[in-house]
Amino acid sequence: MPDVTCVGVLVADVIVRPVDRWPQPGGLILVDRVELHSGGLAHTTGVALAKLGVPTAVVGRVGADRLGAFLVDVLREHGIEVYVHQDAGTSTSATVVAVASGGDRSFLHMPGANARLVPEDVPETLLADSRLVHLGGYFLLPGLDGEPAAALLRRAKALGCGTSLDVAWDAHERWMSALAPCLRYVDVLFGNLDELACVTGRADPAEIAAELRALGAGTVVVKLGEAGAYVDDGTWRGRVPAFSVDVVDTTGAGDAFCAGFLTGYLAGWEAARSTRLGNAVGAMCVTAMGGSTGVGSLEEAQRFADTTPLRP
Ligand code: ADP
Repeated sequence: MPDVTCVGVLVADVIVRPVDRWPQPGGLILVDRVELHSGGLAHTTGVALAKLGVPTAVVGRVGADRLGAFLVDVLREHGIEVYVHQDAGTSTSATVVAVASGGDRSFLHMPGANARLVPEDVPETLLADSRLVHLGGYFLLPGLDGEPAAALLRRAKALGCGTSLDVAWDAHERWMSALAPCLRYVDVLFGNLDELACVTGRADPAEIAAELRALGAGTVVVKLGEAGAYVDDGTWRGRVPAFSVDVVDTTGAGDAFCAGFLTGYLAGWEAARSTRLGNAVGAMCVTAMGGSTGVGSLEEAQRFADTTPLRP
């Protein structure tokens, strides 16, 4: 029986480096590395939770293709319960990530099967059995948008299942209008500063969190990249600093952070301590290529947090 059911975005990432210029039409340039990684908010958070020792299920959609089989295999390899619909009518979502010599990244993204995920894909029994359902990549899931997602979260809560939601970037710029119906059913809301600033029209993490809590969210966590994260759960509010690490690849840091935070949250830790674990898992993530490669066990994450200096 899973503790956490992650529902949402599953993506195959093809990472190419270095890409300092694009070939002319019909041309070819040589690169040093082309790697296939699993990615997407629900996939990365799910794998990171499993690595931290949290029993996890993942719900999503892929195409009936090799990239989809790859994403499912990675979940299974980590002992995750898989509820992934292989949809023959579409292709697995994929992103080509071109990394420049200096580290800047450009993306070519195809939404594919994620766009067809619907609330009915989430088995009722899974909501009844899980301690928490996590929606990973809300703004990238048009089949859940607004009322359908609100109904799913409401159903989860009625069955005694906690809820969390990580927003992602809204390419359609609906922001608050799409999120508002869900807020009162969200126990923990995650987003990075840019995303939640667009949702609220505010720039200050404290004001952002206060507004989202006033609209119904339980705990609000604003991810601040190398500045760590700001958290407000109504009893404690403040910024928790990030750890000082050598950054290799920031892909998936936010998803790994969510896994760390939720691990503490489900253990009943107070908000600042859960955020510190989130920062540790996010920092472990950025030290390696790919979203969950650098993430270790809970014991390793705690040792990392105890031995790694904070960023000034
Ligand atoms: P997202 O990936 O959702 O945009 P962030 O970039 O804010 O989210 O990263 C999520 C978390 O990962 C941060 O809150 C922080 O804990 C950690 N993190 C990200 N970048 C760094 C960094 N350069 N150094 C240390 N920790 C980082």
